[in-house]
Amino acid sequence: MVTARTRAWDIAARVCDPEVPVLTIEDLGILRDVREGEDGVVVTITPTYSGCPAMDTIRQDLTLAFSVEGYDRVEVDLVLAPAWTTDWMTDAGKRKLSEYGIAPPIGRAADRGPVRLQLGVKCPRCGSLHTREVTRFGSTSCKALYECRACLEPFDFFKVH
Ligand SMILES: [Zn+2]
Repeated sequence: MVTARTRAWDIAARVCDPEVPVLTIEDLGILRDVREGEDGVVVTITPTYSGCPAMDTIRQDLTLAFSVEGYDRVEVDLVLAPAWTTDWMTDAGKRKLSEYGIAPPIGRAADRGPVRLQLGVKCPRCGSLHTREVTRFGSTSCKALYECRACLEPFDFFKVH
């Protein structure tokens, strides 16, 4: 039997991230909790960084997703601590990113000290590690723009943080 919590979680888990539409908020790891009470559903989200403008869109998309399923009242709680890190991204999410042409974050933010070692970023198109950073800020602040020296294609790298 499917419990109410699981059904509500599944509804929330289908909502996609507006900045990386190939990822759901569950893939990204920002969906923290879904509770169903007498007053409606309370969804807890940890934004990828504070002040992320995508949160307004996610809030609207969640409200819509639940209203389609017959839930009238949806509250979206933002929890800023502990801060989201790319470590919360699921393996399925990383795979989808790569298939989409964005190099997924590598290594674990938690394993890193104050000095951040630059690990080799793999080209999502040809798999070469012979890549270089073009600019630290790509199409969104979550991503850096890279260039592959093997296939000469530019690509986004989802920064580890
Ligand atoms: Zn390449």
